[in-house]
Amino acid sequence: MPKLMLFVDGTWLYRNTPRLGEVYGTRDFHIHYGLLPKALGDEVARQLGIPELDLVRTYLFGSYPANYDLRDEEAVQRQLDFYATLKEEYHYEVETFPIDFRGRRLRREDRLPGDRFEPKEKCVDIALATALLYYAAIPYAYDLALVVVGDRDYRPVLQHVRRMGKRVAIASIQGCCSPEFSDPEDRLRVKDFDLIWLNDLIDRIELKFERHQRECASPLHVGDRKVWTTYHPRKREQFFCEDCRKKFAMEKAAAQETYVAAAPVAENGHTYDSNGAPALATGCTGRVKKVVRERGFGFVQREDGQEYFFHLTDLEVGLNWEALEEGRTVMFDVRREPTGGKAGAASHLHDIAPLERAAGAN
Ligand SMILES: [Zn+2]
Repeated sequence: MPKLMLFVDGTWLYRNTPRLGEVYGTRDFHIHYGLLPKALGDEVARQLGIPELDLVRTYLFGSYPANYDLRDEEAVQRQLDFYATLKEEYHYEVETFPIDFRGRRLRREDRLPGDRFEPKEKCVDIALATALLYYAAIPYAYDLALVVVGDRDYRPVLQHVRRMGKRVAIASIQGCCSPEFSDPEDRLRVKDFDLIWLNDLIDRIELKFERHQRECASPLHVGDRKVWTTYHPRKREQFFCEDCRKKFAMEKAAAQETYVAAAPVAENGHTYDSNGAPALATGCTGRVKKVVRERGFGFVQREDGQEYFFHLTDLEVGLNWEALEEGRTVMFDVRREPTGGKAGAASHLHDIAPLERAAGAN
């Protein structure tokens, strides 16, 4: 069975997804990334006239904001959660690169008038091209490469991969695709298949937000825990109902105001968070130092002695807030470093991983 690898320009796809919804007369269209690889693989198999392909792996390349204005915190977190979901739920290989916003808002219309700052995306297209070529050079890694792209910059790499004897398929979006790729005569010799329009696959790749029942994990939830929601938490994420989420967000912000170090200030005077910046640590180990049970937060001390604030909503599945005792060893990510005598901020607290536990036992 021929082996197929998928290479997705995530930045391009995310930016142009609203164009897919226009078929329905709406720009509010979302792709189900769990269904996307198989829908594309089936399409290549159909064009080859074989029942199925061995879909070896899906790579997605994208970027995320770093050093952005704190008011955009929620939007950034959603984006980071999206990448985590691709890895954890759908087993994508995800490569992401930070975009330095220098304290600015994410959207141009939210920035100061006359601010000529232009966020610059780095590495995404080169990373995709490199991976494509790298696996083409590894014997038996793939027979066919399917790229989800629209940008003509990919032309040279597609041509070279074909010269290495690999077959190339291109999937794109109508109106967002270089004419060099969609040329039916393929005068530039970039593909071995008819161009696959995602527009033709929308019925098979649409993410539908279906209502279902879930239990709110909040220890402070009032009333029936079973609530209706369209929200799908990630594997390790605790689910909280709408009411609890709103309440927690306010309580957390209030507690952070008191205990957490101030955010850095940008040249334009805005405060920003360094969340997502590559310098910040992930997978830290530390001990729970203090739990303020009645207010729903606590502090964790890293091995180097630095202290970080956390809220009960920062706990992942497997750590129970009510049973969380001081002195317990946990793992966490750093969202902000401590300064000025105040604590930093931690997130994604989880139980010490089985791998680390095994290493500790030796
Ligand atoms: Zn609740």
